[in-house]
Amino acid sequence: MSTEQSRQSVSGLDVLISGGSMGGLFTGLALARAGHRPTIYERSAGALESRGGGIVAQQNIRRFLSEHGIVDPEAITTRSHERRFLAENGDVKRAVSETMVFTSWDALYRRLRDAFPDERYRTGTAVTAVTPETATVTIGDGTERTADVVVAAEGGQSTTRARLHPNVEPEFASYVAWRGVVDEAALPAACGEAFDGTFTFYQGTDQLVLAYFIPGPDGETEPGSRRLNWVWYDTLDGRDRGAIFTDTSGTERRFSVSPGRLRDPVRHRQRERAATLPPAFETLVSATPDLFVQAIYDLTVPAMVADRACLLGDAAFVARPHTAAGTAKAAGDATALADALASRGSVADALTAWSKTRTEHGASLVARGKQMGDVRLNLA
Ligand SMILES: Cc1cc2nc3c(=O)[nH]c(=O)nc-3n(C[C@H](O)[C@H](O)[C@H](O)COP(=O)(O)OP(=O)(O)OC[C@H]3O[C@@H](n4cnc5c(N)ncnc54)[C@H](O)[C@@H]3O)c2cc1C
Repeated sequence: MSTEQSRQSVSGLDVLISGGSMGGLFTGLALARAGHRPTIYERSAGALESRGGGIVAQQNIRRFLSEHGIVDPEAITTRSHERRFLAENGDVKRAVSETMVFTSWDALYRRLRDAFPDERYRTGTAVTAVTPETATVTIGDGTERTADVVVAAEGGQSTTRARLHPNVEPEFASYVAWRGVVDEAALPAACGEAFDGTFTFYQGTDQLVLAYFIPGPDGETEPGSRRLNWVWYDTLDGRDRGAIFTDTSGTERRFSVSPGRLRDPVRHRQRERAATLPPAFETLVSATPDLFVQAIYDLTVPAMVADRACLLGDAAFVARPHTAAGTAKAAGDATALADALASRGSVADALTAWSKTRTEHGASLVARGKQMGDVRLNLA
């Protein structure tokens, strides 16, 4: 293990990362490139099962892929050139010229995972405790490991955050996002054409639905091998949240029900409700083999660092998806951490500076997401 005394940058640190999804991988890759020694612990035993959904490939994500030599971002992204708003009958009400770049969770995750060395990525290994004062983690079998810094990139249900900030709880925003992904080849041609090249929205009363093309699971971008991704924000409309979030095994989920796990009556009711959408969206929903649902919530922590432990990505802040920023924020947290260590004379200074700027950034994104969502869902 190294120490940091009186240097203008901190290098060669041992860093233990809890969580091997986007946040953990961005962090591991950024720190390894800066000369540190990151090890990732991921509690899932196999490859992470994708929810297969779309991600807006913000510029910093594309830059990360290029600068770290992971993949040419062009190879795993699709583009739209117009933001289009539909009327209920399907007519185009308004269209604005705008380029947006999209990717898919699975294509991006695979590229990041392939770029990170297997011997430093431990699957099936849950971190059960973090001791911030000594940068120690305890893993599932009781083994303790001590390093220079610990990063908890454990997502919105982070147990490390629950221990560091016991009074912080995700706050349900009173609406949900129904989601789905359909192979382009499985859609009627007219439906695919209606969405091609556009980022399409329909704003109804208390609901908002949008769709865009994403690459295939392995990043395929050729027409015919892409997928259409849709997100349908909907208020509960008097329905019982517990009933919607009780999956096929009878377990009530707090935040999401994965593809294939929605109970039949819940799935049928939402498909029926699709009749209130413009025809192209109705077709899209009915052609989707596996709808899934996610609760929309807000999460804010007062600080991202305690001694030598950092909270990163969704473990610290969850902004509503309207901001299209969750994955970009995780990438931004990771590169900012590597930059802070490179420009400060001690680990403590670097972590303090990092926490300050990224906490401000996270809090402002969450506030922006609340404002955007409440206006669009008529909750303001
Ligand atoms: C399987 C999966 C699929 C997703 N699909 C989409 C999508 O299609 N579209 C989209 O917009 N967003 C998706 N997300 C969310 C998106 O990845 C995040 O919002 C964003 O990228 C920030 O990621 P994160 O790494 O901070 O958190 P997350 O992506 O939530 O990852 C947290 C990771 O930490 C692991 N973990 C948690 N606790 C522990 C512990 N104690 N020890 C070890 N490991 C632990 C979890 O298993 C998980 O892999 C998905 C997330 C996951 C995990």
